[in-house]
This record gives sequence, structure tokens and C-alpha cells, in this order.
Amino acid sequence: MTDKPRVAIYKMSSCAGCQLEFLNLEPVLLDVVGAVELSYFVMARRQNAPGPYDIGFVEGAITCGEEIEKLKRARQECRVLVALGSCACFGGLPSIKNWIPERVVESRVYQNLEVIESTKAYGIDEYVKVDAYLKGCPVDKGELVEFIKGALLGISPHLRPHSVCVECKLRENVCLFVSQGEPCLGAVTTAGCGALCPSRGKVCDGCRGPANDANAESLARSFTEYGLHKSDVIRKFRKFAGLTPEFSKGAEAV
Ligand code: SF4
Ligand code: SF4
Ligand code: SF4
Repeated sequence: MTDKPRVAIYKMSSCAGCQLEFLNLEPVLLDVVGAVELSYFVMARRQNAPGPYDIGFVEGAITCGEEIEKLKRARQECRVLVALGSCACFGGLPSIKNWIPERVVESRVYQNLEVIESTKAYGIDEYVKVDAYLKGCPVDKGELVEFIKGALLGISPHLRPHSVCVECKLRENVCLFVSQGEPCLGAVTTAGCGALCPSRGKVCDGCRGPANDANAESLARSFTEYGLHKSDVIRKFRKFAGLTPEFSKGAEAV
């Protein structure tokens, strides 16, 4: 046992892409590993040490009773609990299923439904108190490092209330929406990715969830005026963060 902060990484219903970002921190991983004790990390460790832990990162949405119990145990054994990635923050991609009856979803995936007891997919704060949110699908490596360093120094994480459009303008991109009528969600999506997708000629799909002043209803109506079908507008707003009040207003506006 060392006196370094003890870190745990839990996986719920997810693709493991956010945990992978921990391992992708190659240039700084050794520093991170040197500064903290990665006590529980099933993807990376052969043996895991029991809690309590100083910081717990939870990846994935909660989609069954077993995960609800696992999450509650994680909350009990971690002093600080962090939602790692959009699935854990607000349901993310797994929450797409919430708009289809649960049994229909289950029958599309499993042959034998007798042993399946899934629930709607929710972010982790549906069930436990969450101390910090690291959004993105996957989580942004820069923000992850910033958060870990801040936690070690006792500094609160830097919040980015503005939208992806601000970062897009700072990168001097030509606006895909204005110039080509492409349905970009950057105006209502929280910044932090450096306008990753628009900088590569792709529209923002809203993976980081709503920005603070998001006017999703207005943007949804603009999309239909530009010719996007209502069902496509709804799908766009429900892709990652359809459970958030802001994006659900966007989906309901058309
Ligand atoms: S937020 Fe995206 S990358 Fe992270 S676990 Fe969920 S689906 Fe995977
Ligand atoms: S391309 Fe998208 S993110 Fe960039 S300025 Fe236009 S709407 Fe905003
Ligand atoms: S541009 Fe939008 S979809 Fe792409 S990474 Fe950033 S928030 Fe996610």
C-alpha cells in the first residue's frame, strides 16, 4: 500500500473506448501511473486491489439492475466519483434504445429473453451523486489529463460553458451549416473537443451533450427549414444526449 491517491476505473454498459483513452495517454501515462495508484482497472491489470479508493471513474450507461448495484457499491467505496464519457454522463449511445419498448430492444439482441432483465439506459447520476463529468464519445484525452492533474493539486476542473462553434471559429473553419446547409449541432453542443469533427469536414453530432445556453428548439426548426426530415432531426438530437432537457426540447420542437 502506498500513500499515492488510489484510482478505480469501473465499466458499465459501454464500448470501453473511454477506458482505452486512459491507455492512449502514452506520453503522460507513466507520469500518471507514477502519481497515482491504479488500484482497480480490469482492462489493464491482472490483479485488482479492493477499495476504498480516492477517485473512481465510471464508464458506461446503466442498463440493468446488476449495474445499479455495482454503481452504488462504487459510490460507497470512492471519495470522488467521476462520470467518464458521454454514456456515463447522460446515457450516450446506449440511450438510443430508450425510445423503443424495452422488450422489443431485448428481442432484437437476445434469443432467450427469460434471463434478460434490462432497464432503460441512464447516465450514472440517475442513481448516485456524481462529483465531476468528463463528456465526449470518447472522452477527450486533454480534459482527462487536466482533470487528473487538477485532482492531484486540489484544483476544480475547468468548465467550458460555451459551444463547439466557438472552438470551430477559433480554428478558422468555414461553417458547414452556413456554407453548405449541413445539419451541424455545434451551436448547441458543449465545447472541449476543439471542434474535432467540423475541423475534418464532418458535422458535429452532439456527442458532448448540450452547451449551457443551448437553444436546441431554434436549431431544430432551422434544420427542417433547410430541408432535413423531421425524423432525421429527432434522431440527431437523440443520438447521444436525448435524455438531457435541452436536447429533448430539440427533438420535440419539430
Ligand atoms: S462514451 Fe463513447 S467511447 Fe465512451 S464508452 Fe460510451 S460509447 Fe464508448
Ligand atoms: S461548422 Fe458546425 S461547429 Fe463549426 S461554426 Fe458551423 S455550426 Fe458551428
Ligand atoms: S465535434 Fe461534436 S461530435 Fe465531434 S467530437 Fe466534438 S462534440 Fe463530439
